[in-house]
Amino acid sequence: MSFVQGLKCRECAREYPTEPIHVCEFCFGPLEVRYDYEGIKRALTREVIESRPANMWRYRELIPIDGDPTVGLDNGFTPLVRAKNLGAALGLNNLYLKNDSVCHPTLSFKDRVVAAAVNKAVEFGYDTIACASTGNLANSVASHAASAGLKSYIFIPSDLESSKILGTSIYDTKIISIKGSYDDVNRFCSEVATVFPWAFVNINIRPFYGDGSKTFGYEIAEQLGWRAPDNVITPVAGSSLITKIHKAFKEFESLGLIGEVKTKIFAAQATGCSPVTTAIKAGVDDFKPVKPNTIAKSIAIGNPADGYYGIKVARGTGGWGEDVSDPEIVDAIKLLARTEGIFTETAGGVAVGVTKKLIEQGRIGKDEITVISITGQGLKTTEAVEDHLRAPVVIEPKLSVFKDIQSDL
Ligand SMILES: *Cc1c(COP(=O)(O)O)cnc(C)c1O
Ligand SMILES: [Zn+2]
Repeated sequence: MSFVQGLKCRECAREYPTEPIHVCEFCFGPLEVRYDYEGIKRALTREVIESRPANMWRYRELIPIDGDPTVGLDNGFTPLVRAKNLGAALGLNNLYLKNDSVCHPTLSFKDRVVAAAVNKAVEFGYDTIACASTGNLANSVASHAASAGLKSYIFIPSDLESSKILGTSIYDTKIISIKGSYDDVNRFCSEVATVFPWAFVNINIRPFYGDGSKTFGYEIAEQLGWRAPDNVITPVAGSSLITKIHKAFKEFESLGLIGEVKTKIFAAQATGCSPVTTAIKAGVDDFKPVKPNTIAKSIAIGNPADGYYGIKVARGTGGWGEDVSDPEIVDAIKLLARTEGIFTETAGGVAVGVTKKLIEQGRIGKDEITVISITGQGLKTTEAVEDHLRAPVVIEPKLSVFKDIQSDL
């Protein structure tokens, strides 16, 4: 049974049927999914959720598909790690990491949005899935299309990390590498989408895609023992995840699943691509598009689709935005690895590095419950750190040689 009632314009509130559309015809505002929250409130209790398998579909009433999911059945429900060592290094007593660097099946939080989008695309009757991607979306769309037996076309900027390309081509998809930035790729895909009858997960299927992100927030609240944290720090690209984490907490609050939500939401970007955090710091309502130049390629979107709403969420919740330089990103990746044994990609380094800055600025209290969003896997962005690590020591297999060098290691 589905609780989806249709779509609704976020700006003018005009209602639309459940169709593969994403922009309001009247005001060009983004469309969002409308739910029957009264019905969901009766159906979805803590007990019902807890009785279900540990994957994102335990919140299925709040994910916009009509029938049972047919693909991505095991995605989500990643660990919420109590980060005592990193907390001690940063001076926090109640620090947690929401670790989507191990999300099934392609090791980033994009497996949540793609599972929602591809299931919806199948319900709409599409046989071809497509996307404009900064890398992780490419991996996830190609993987889900393969397992669903669908065709896929993946559009990427030509300067992506080699593991992100390899981790897409392995699924035998069609990759189109565009000479330009992600923003050029996205603009081009909007044109392609008007001619080819494909499900572009982050264009015409975007309202359904976005709601997959909410499960990241639901899980944090459930895993904290049914409460929202005091602070969440999240890397921002198109600004979908940051707005949907907030929406997730507010939905749980209005469904009576958790108490009053006072969570401050913090936006984290790389200094080389920081339209959202620059606007937050400047105190303006909207961002100025930028040309990205950073090692954090997965979040290098200079013209973020939901940037306006990301700024609003950070400001409206009493949060803030900060950015970190490329060397600070590398340091933060290494800090997380040596304190918690978690290897995150550049976007996770951005979140950890920004958290450090926010603590130094006094914006996060030491006893507050703080969650850092670790959204992707370090093995996908090895280029970022490979020149900054200690090399292995090469020796002959002789005990005497080892004894000589051991104390210098
Ligand atoms: C896409 C992505 C984000 C941010 O996503 P948006 O919802 O577009 O803001 C963060 N981290 C990683 C690793 C990503 O791939
Ligand atoms: Zn409208």
